[in-house]
Amino acid sequence: MPKSKAPVNNGKPYVYDLTLEDWQEWVKGNGEAGFRAGQIFDWLYVKRVSSFDQMSNLPKSLREKLVGQFDFVTLTEVAHYRSQDGTVKFLFELNDKNAIETVVMKHSYGNSICVTTQVGCRIGCTFCASTLGGLKRNLSAGEIIAQVVKAQQMLDQTGERVSSIVIMGIGEPFENYDEVMKFLKVMIHPKGLNIGQRHITVSTSGIVPNIYRFADEDTQINLAISIHAPNDELRSKLMPVNRRFPFKDLIEACQYYIAKTGRRITFEYALMGGVNDQPEHAEELAKVLKVFPHAHVNLIPVNFVSERNFVRTERDDIFTFQRILERGKVNATIRREQGSDIAAACGQLRAKHMESGAR
Ligand code: SF4
Repeated sequence: MPKSKAPVNNGKPYVYDLTLEDWQEWVKGNGEAGFRAGQIFDWLYVKRVSSFDQMSNLPKSLREKLVGQFDFVTLTEVAHYRSQDGTVKFLFELNDKNAIETVVMKHSYGNSICVTTQVGCRIGCTFCASTLGGLKRNLSAGEIIAQVVKAQQMLDQTGERVSSIVIMGIGEPFENYDEVMKFLKVMIHPKGLNIGQRHITVSTSGIVPNIYRFADEDTQINLAISIHAPNDELRSKLMPVNRRFPFKDLIEACQYYIAKTGRRITFEYALMGGVNDQPEHAEELAKVLKVFPHAHVNLIPVNFVSERNFVRTERDDIFTFQRILERGKVNATIRREQGSDIAAACGQLRAKHMESGAR
């Protein structure tokens, strides 16, 4: 995975912006013993402390160096909403007061977290609240990691753990590629949170050059593509990114990924009533995806966004859509809805927060 320069916060990087290898370099450069890197990493990801004072096996002089050179990410909880199904959605303020969302979901197989990678998003998908105010800035790897650490600290109280991660929150992860790769490197590290690679999914709207880059990384991390339409004309209307990276290029990039990694891709398809949910759309999608040996489509009943005019697809029509795909030899599942009673769709809480004058 590539090394990337950590963005700085008031001249200081965050403690979570460094990989273990970065810490090893840092301790060496600061005249400290090599084993100190592992100790710092352990305090951050195994003991999960929130201040340098708590790192009790480090000498005071080293702790002072750390205080002088790094900051912790302060994720200030502005609000949290708990759904009847156990989903908890957090609205956090970052050190610079920008707001982000993080969602923790309970499943029969464990807890998953959906993280944000950018403050806002410039991709402009017409059904998404996250893009309403455009892109403000990228998150650093440390700011993405802080969301997982915070969720894990919460779960520590009940002896549970974050067992899977989806990178599907606010932002386009492949437009913040280097920081997202660094985030992943820390997440999967056996001396860190040690999350299994196959339990992590990165979702992209189709930033073609970085699909190729991701295919060439040596990882077992899952890839999901937000496809949402079966042809260029409709996809360009729903997702302006399709004009930059048209359907044909996207499908070729997916073919390269599958050939290179031997892994399957999940295609996310948000169903919007009367827009992309008709039987002919399902027929066309099945034809397009037939080129992939194990294509899998995840059908998502779209959440209502008050600034947009989309309506939900009727239940029977969702099942019809699924049946047509499966008849066309494309495996399709319907995403279990979680947290719909707490406006858990991406960007909805932040959009409301911004209406009140916040960033
Ligand atoms: S769906 Fe994802 S890529 Fe599209 S605008 Fe929303 S956050 Fe950005």
